[in-house]
Amino acid sequence: MCMERTPWEKAVEFHGHSCPGLAIGCKVAEIALKHLREMRSRDEELVAIVENDSCSVDAVQVLTGCTLGKGNLIYRDLGKQVYTFGSRSGNRALRISVNGDARRPDPEMQELRQKVFSGSASQEERAKFQLAQGRRIEQILQMDESQFCTIKEIDFKFPPKAKIFPSIKCATCGEMVMEPRLRVKNGEFVCLDCFDDYSRGW
Ligand SMILES: [Zn+2]
Ligand SMILES: [Zn+2]
Repeated sequence: MCMERTPWEKAVEFHGHSCPGLAIGCKVAEIALKHLREMRSRDEELVAIVENDSCSVDAVQVLTGCTLGKGNLIYRDLGKQVYTFGSRSGNRALRISVNGDARRPDPEMQELRQKVFSGSASQEERAKFQLAQGRRIEQILQMDESQFCTIKEIDFKFPPKAKIFPSIKCATCGEMVMEPRLRVKNGEFVCLDCFDDYSRGW
């Protein structure tokens, strides 16, 4: 028998673990779908703009169907817990800004987290951390919408739907590159890495 999993369980499976960040994303996505009267996006009916790349974005992808691969998830690196969702059919968009209340971690948990992540926590402390995490997740998921976030209906210019471009061989490394990402170097088409000749610094 196939048991249908809850949206939260699906998000946890995709993300790999359950955490308060994922709960924030889950809550944001549910609020967006409810207010836009939308279902999970099969294609590009919905567009999401996320202003961070934290755990929450994974829940947004699973629940709303706005995914990096489909091109209807746009990441702006602004370090804000702010999410904009647009519905193409409804021609409406919402900006959801997560309030501080939802993000304030339990002080006891912060201390424990450091120990758990540095590997110095005892078995007992790890169990305590798990318990506190569970409480925090529950608290976020149950939080009153008005306490959790600020929602604004906004004017929104929808980005064009994702396009498929032809690929061309980079003259330097020989790898295939999507046409708009090519640059010309010494009269030849090269990829961005070969153009800049840089290596990423991480
Ligand atoms: Zn996480
Ligand atoms: Zn190249």
